[in-house]
Amino acid sequence: MKIIIAKTAGFCMGVRRAVDMALEAPSKHGSPIFTYGPLIHNPQVLDLLDEKGVQIIREIPDSGSGTVLIRAHGVPPDVKTRLRQAGFSVIDATCPRVIKVQTIIRKHAQKGYAVIIIGDREHPEVTGLLGFAGDKGYVARSLEELTSLPVFDKAILVAQTTLNTHLFEEVKDWVQTHHPNYECFHTICDSTAERQAEVQEIAGQVDAMIVVGGHSSGNTQRLAEIAEAVGVPAYHIETEADLDFKDLCNATTIGITAGASTPNWIINRVVHTVERLPCQNGAGVLKAVYTLQQTLLMTNVYVAAGAGCLCYTCAALMKIPNILPHAWVAMLYVLSMHTLNNLTGLKSDRYNDPDREAFYRRHRLSLTCLAMLSGAMGLLIACTYGITPFLVLLTMSVLGLSYNLKLMPEKNIMAGYSRIRDVPGSKTILIAAAWGVVTSALPAISTGKPFAPATIFVFLWATGLVLARTAFFDILDMQGDQIVGKETIPILLGEARSIRMLRILLLVLAMLPLLSGMAGVFPPLGYGLAICPAAMLLLVNIHEKGFMLPGFRLEFLMESLFILAGIVTLTFSLVQRL
Ligand code: SF4
Repeated sequence: MKIIIAKTAGFCMGVRRAVDMALEAPSKHGSPIFTYGPLIHNPQVLDLLDEKGVQIIREIPDSGSGTVLIRAHGVPPDVKTRLRQAGFSVIDATCPRVIKVQTIIRKHAQKGYAVIIIGDREHPEVTGLLGFAGDKGYVARSLEELTSLPVFDKAILVAQTTLNTHLFEEVKDWVQTHHPNYECFHTICDSTAERQAEVQEIAGQVDAMIVVGGHSSGNTQRLAEIAEAVGVPAYHIETEADLDFKDLCNATTIGITAGASTPNWIINRVVHTVERLPCQNGAGVLKAVYTLQQTLLMTNVYVAAGAGCLCYTCAALMKIPNILPHAWVAMLYVLSMHTLNNLTGLKSDRYNDPDREAFYRRHRLSLTCLAMLSGAMGLLIACTYGITPFLVLLTMSVLGLSYNLKLMPEKNIMAGYSRIRDVPGSKTILIAAAWGVVTSALPAISTGKPFAPATIFVFLWATGLVLARTAFFDILDMQGDQIVGKETIPILLGEARSIRMLRILLLVLAMLPLLSGMAGVFPPLGYGLAICPAAMLLLVNIHEKGFMLPGFRLEFLMESLFILAGIVTLTFSLVQRL
């Protein structure tokens, strides 16, 4: 079965901005925190906000305290005034594109124009827009309703930002013919237009279309309508639990899209479920490969193998012989720490990777034993190299183990930073530094050349590569991490800036082995290794262009780049022996 996933699926700019503001509100603004009406039309996101203490008020009380967040759809202007008069602080999360429509309406209403809004009268965005038109506002849901409105001397027409583009084109044609003195403003949001155009295109190539989003979300409903109009069955679902396996199993190609208020983690869950529909069981070899890949990733065996390969590569660059025990130390340390991290990070996996969360809950005991055993074995092997490598590894293991532990009471000078994980960006940097130490510094320390130029360059290269890998995964996990309050580097810098920095870092990492090779610091192998950061850059671009959604395939490919480094090193060593 082939699955086509819409590149435009998921949060639009306005919704993402509003959700980010709501998630940040408890730490930035006076509590209690409220939203005026539901923030967005997605019950799962609303449940999460409720868990974080963000409650909904639907009526403005005579008096109150705390902060009220205005949702992305906006509100009539008097609502903000009344909220302030009641005693609330107001944060305005109205989408900038909705504000633009509000401005057009206010300006023309003040000049005496009648304002006709094409949209759904009951929709909160339209309610808000009407408030800016004063007594000059009218709403028409369809061309028929528009034709029944009175005739005005002068009028403007605007569209609800999520209106069906075809309907607005029809409206404009009718206005041009019957009321050429009316002025039409194309206020449908680009993101809506692109989403609708894409669903129409995908619907033409598939046997069934799945549209993910809240049942009360107007823009999601319209996506389903557009797909149906193309002639394919469209299934509007809220979560993977609504999937109808029987119907979908008849399809050979399935399209998946989502409304503007659907978070990534729900889309991911739907994609994962469709990928493993019961009717795909017979797919034999493919299914077995899929299960094997997933098991290797979930148990961290593949990540550990990648660390072993990276260590082998680093040793070859530093010309360290007899690398196998060092590679084992790297593999066992990474296996131990990543497994422990997964065990203590179940809360964010609930949103980022529900399959992993379920796996770790199911096998908690055996995975804990595996993590402890591998950590102890790594220390034992390090011990055979002497006291310094042992102490270095022990320090790193203790740091890894204490990452999630409260090291200081919360009511002290460092309040808010009682655990290492509370330090912003600590996760991304610590993982990279730990990998750098076990894959390059530890072998160098064991062989007595910790400060040779090659060691320093190799350490920087290996650490940089892992930093890029971890930051990339952090970008994919931003929504889930933000919900549980994890301060990763992408959350601090924002997605666009993080991707820009990732690209620069990867370019530097591609140049480093080339230049070091030319300077004679690295052996000729350095030239071949530029392929790893280059391939990483390619993956980042593939994902950013929307050709691959977050999921285990993307994760598997990213982790495979360390295995690739090992393969390149092995090939060079075999060629040299010939
Ligand atoms: S659909 Fe467009 S106008 Fe509406 S909230 Fe999203 S970005 Fe803003």
